[in-house]
Amino acid sequence: MNIAPSIYNAFNICPRQAWLLSRQLTADQQNTYLDIGRLINGEFFSREKKEIYIPDLAAKIDYVKKRDGEFFVAEVKKSSATMQSGIVQLKYYLYLLDKKGIKAKGLIKIPKEKKSMEIELSEEDKKFILEKIKTLQDILKREEPPQVKKIKQCRKCAHYEFCFA
Ligand code: SF4
Repeated sequence: MNIAPSIYNAFNICPRQAWLLSRQLTADQQNTYLDIGRLINGEFFSREKKEIYIPDLAAKIDYVKKRDGEFFVAEVKKSSATMQSGIVQLKYYLYLLDKKGIKAKGLIKIPKEKKSMEIELSEEDKKFILEKIKTLQDILKREEPPQVKKIKQCRKCAHYEFCFA
């Protein structure tokens, strides 16, 4: 079973968030942080921007380009503070593409800081992701979501009201 990137990414923050997303309890689509992400994409990359979708998953990749014969998928971030999550996210995209026989590298772009970083998927990354997927699948099969556990990301989470109201 393939896991949608949005659920995989949520799992890296909070297992409960992943479970809620898998049941489509995505309460707040107007969440400001999502809007800022869209704005950055449109504002800085409108001429080059393309979107690709991974079949079956409807996973949107921010930006795609070819350079010196190599295929890059890019993730646009607001600041270096989200660099680590961007790396995790991109490696998952690369993993999904690799499963489809598409060799690609990742590119993290932080327009506001004029930064860019290349990411590659190693054999170790693939094993790590596979293990993570197994754990995530076990959680998603449960009837009830994992317990609420307050973390610093809660205040920016679209499920905040649902968890703490
Ligand atoms: S509000 Fe906190 S506990 Fe609830 S889903 Fe979001 S991150 Fe997880």
